[in-house]
Order: sequence, then C-alpha cells, then structure tokens
Amino acid sequence: MCRAATTAAAIAVLAGHAAAAQRTVVPQSLSADSATRAAIASRYPRDRSDTLPAFPLRELAPGVYAVLGDTGRGVEGRPNAGFVVTPAGVIVIDALASPGEGRVLMRAIRTVTRAPVRYLVLTHHHPDHTFGAIVFKRAGARIIAHPDRRTLANIDGDDRLASDWTGVMGLEQMRGFAYADTPDIAVRHDTLLTVGGRRIQIIRPGPAHSAGDLMVWLPADRVLFAGDVLVEDGVSMMVDGNSTAMLGALARVDSLNPRIAVPGHGRLAQQPARLVATTRCYVLALRDSMRRAVADGVRMGQALDRLPPVDRDRPVSLHSRLRRNAVRVYSEMEQALLGSPPSGEALAAESGQLAGCPR
Ligand SMILES: [Zn+2]
Ligand SMILES: [Zn+2]
Repeated sequence: MCRAATTAAAIAVLAGHAAAAQRTVVPQSLSADSATRAAIASRYPRDRSDTLPAFPLRELAPGVYAVLGDTGRGVEGRPNAGFVVTPAGVIVIDALASPGEGRVLMRAIRTVTRAPVRYLVLTHHHPDHTFGAIVFKRAGARIIAHPDRRTLANIDGDDRLASDWTGVMGLEQMRGFAYADTPDIAVRHDTLLTVGGRRIQIIRPGPAHSAGDLMVWLPADRVLFAGDVLVEDGVSMMVDGNSTAMLGALARVDSLNPRIAVPGHGRLAQQPARLVATTRCYVLALRDSMRRAVADGVRMGQALDRLPPVDRDRPVSLHSRLRRNAVRVYSEMEQALLGSPPSGEALAAESGQLAGCPR
C-alpha cells in the first residue's frame, strides 16, 4: 500500500472515534450520574446538575473519577478519560479528541475541584486521546507520556494529521489547537508518581495497542486506567501495536488484579479479569489461525475469507477491527516464520492457554 493510502486508512480508522465525538461533543445538557450529583450540588448549589455542561463522571474511589465516553457506542464512541484529585493538585488521564473536548473535560473536572491540574498522563498518542492536551498544557499541566509518538495516523507528519483531523472534527472543535503530546516527563518504564501523598503508578505495558502505550494504576484503590489496551468488547486494536505485546500487556493487567478497569472505550469493566480473559482468548485464537494459515501456505486473502468484510464508513466497528487485526497478525506470523520462529515451548504455552478458552 502506498503511503498516502496507508495514511488515509489510518485516518479513516481514527475517524470512527471522532465522528461519534463530533456528534456528541457539545451536549445541550448532560446528566452527571448519581455518584457525583450530590457532590456537585453541595459545591455549586446554583448549578442544576441535570444541565451541567460537562461530560458525565463516575467516582470510582475517593477522589478518583472516570470521565465517561459515549455509552452504547463501544469502540466507536468518544473515549473514556479520568482524573485523580489530591491535596497537591489534579492528575488527568487522557485529554480527548480536540481542544473543544479538552475544554468540556476541564469543565467536568471543575465541577469537583478548583485545584490546579499538575499533570496530564497520555495513555498513547492516537489523536482521539491527545488532541485536547493543549488545554491542560496551557493551564500549567506537565505532560507525562511515552516518548514514542509514532502511529500510522502521523506517518506523513504532524501537519498532515492535524489538517486531516480538523476535517474530521470541524474547525470549531479544533479552535486553539497545538500539539501537546510530546512529554515533559518521558516514561519508558514503570514509574511511580507520588502527588499529595497519593501513589500513582505509570505502567509501560509494551507496544500492545500502539508504540507509546502507558497505563495508570492506583494501587491503593486498585483502579486501572488501561487506555486502548482494553476496550469493552475485548477486540482491542493491534494495527499500531502487536499481538505478542498485547498478550504481555494482558498478563500485566492480570497480575495487578484490578477492582475496576477503565477501558479506552466503552463500559467500565466491573470484572476486569473477565474482560482480560475475553481479550486474551480473542488474541490467542487469531494468532493460532493466522499461524496455521501461514504454515500451510494459505495466502492472506484466503486466510481472511471467513471474516466479515470491513464496514466501509465504520473503520473501528467490530467487523472492521476483526479484519484489520487479522491482517496485522497474519504479517506478524509471516515475519516470525521467515525470521525467528517461536520456540516449541512458547507455542505449547499458547496452545495450552487457548485450550482453556470457550469455543
Ligand atoms: Zn488508540
Ligand atoms: Zn481510542
């Protein structure tokens, strides 16, 4: 595929999130859910909580909030974000898809606290999670991110991506845009951040969903912000990452044993172990079938035959993700066969895990 086509495909994929976001980004009125309504009413009694101009929040633990993305739209909806309030200021997790969304996110935070935002942690560099970052940078936040900003979407450069993304989001949403995802504090390995006495672990799970993946773990509350390593239906995108790293990232989530996991998109996982198991079984089955296809000399087109076609205008729909991931994993297996094939031990471990998956 030529570079232009690759970029177009990448933009198309990301546009799925943004198109949904554009439709819902400036809500006429939004309800705060019951977990936050009382807090808002007590702090800002003149605001009617049912007309609050902010995204809905859910308090997951004292001072730990999820900012809920679109519900009912799965991976195609606006991402989830979050923030943590400490006596020394606020840590925000992800900045959403435009300065417009970033401003609404800031307003949501302001319904809970007037404390300054000290840090913005970016779970990765896809524009639907980072293009609102400038709002927080201008408010004085330091950006914490993995330094590897490479994605398919910016393969033709930042200017091209910003211009294409403006086409997706609209000029009004992008007012005041500048890139702000280059880290002030670059995180390449697990890093412990202590703010106002609260321990916040920034975890590097490996390049599972994208080259610059990070997760945010609050050990005292056992809450995990997983970025797009987890999504609500268990079909995490690996087109910008790889399936080996995805299996490693899932094992890492298991080892943390979170009480609640906030996925990049969709419903909060109240039973994170189940979502991890579903995701792992999907990845293992895909690797198994693509490995067999490559070993048997089956061409990619034929190997993809049993999958439904991509949905033309819904690049991150379930069908589109299934097929795009299959293309990615087929090439991984091809490279493994040509380069360094996995050991018999590694293969046996994988098929053992797969045997435990529901058929
Ligand atoms: Zn992403
Ligand atoms: Zn996303």
